[in-house]
This record gives sequence, structure tokens and C-alpha cells, in this order.
Amino acid sequence: MHVKILNLNENNLKLIVEGVDSSFLNSIRRIILSEVPCMAIDDVIILENSSVMSDEFLSHRLGLIPIKTNLDAYKLPEECECKSELGCPLCRASFTLDVESTEGVRVVYSGDHPGGSGDRSGKR
Ligand SMILES: [Zn+2]
Repeated sequence: MHVKILNLNENNLKLIVEGVDSSFLNSIRRIILSEVPCMAIDDVIILENSSVMSDEFLSHRLGLIPIKTNLDAYKLPEECECKSELGCPLCRASFTLDVESTEGVRVVYSGDHPGGSGDRSGKR
């Protein structure tokens, strides 16, 4: 196996690996991703939805948005002193997505969400 690192910084690693099966590398990639802590939306309350998506589909899509999280300031709910089922600002995050189209069709991107990691241009 030969590994050549092309780029390495705090958030990215770009490398070329030669001499191993792609399924082996995919397994390593999956293990690495499973070790990255990631916060996501778990509960969704919809007050008004006039989009073409059903509430269930919209909730599912919101759950797929990774939420930027300051892990130094966040406490896991089971480790928080509040012991509340609803949580407190230390162990829960609450977001409001309020998007409206004033004329024509409006596409809502993950960047429109206050905790979303995407940008508002639709670029991935
Ligand atoms: Zn708490």
C-alpha cells in the first residue's frame, strides 16, 4: 500500500492511496465518518407548511442537515445538570426556520436554516 498526502489541514485530508481495494478504503472512510460527532435535528414542530412537501418529508429533510456545534459549550442531555426532558440551553438547541416566497417559487436551502452548514447560493 502506498499513501501520498496531497493536502492536510484542520478540516480536510486529501490523499492518494494505491495498492488496496476500494472497498477496504470505503470501510475506512465509513469508520472515520462514524467517529465524527454531528448534531442533527430530532424534533420538528411545523406551524405552517404551504410548500409542495408534506410535513413528514420536510421533517426528514431537516433531519439530514448537519448542525454546526461548539462541542466545548455543548453538554450531552444525559450529562446536563438540568435533568429536564425538554432540556435547557446548555443541552438543547432550538431553531426557527421562517421562509416565505413573496413572488414565484422559492427554493429553501440548508443555508437558510440558522444552524445549517450550507450556503444560501445552493452550492454544495
Ligand atoms: Zn440541560
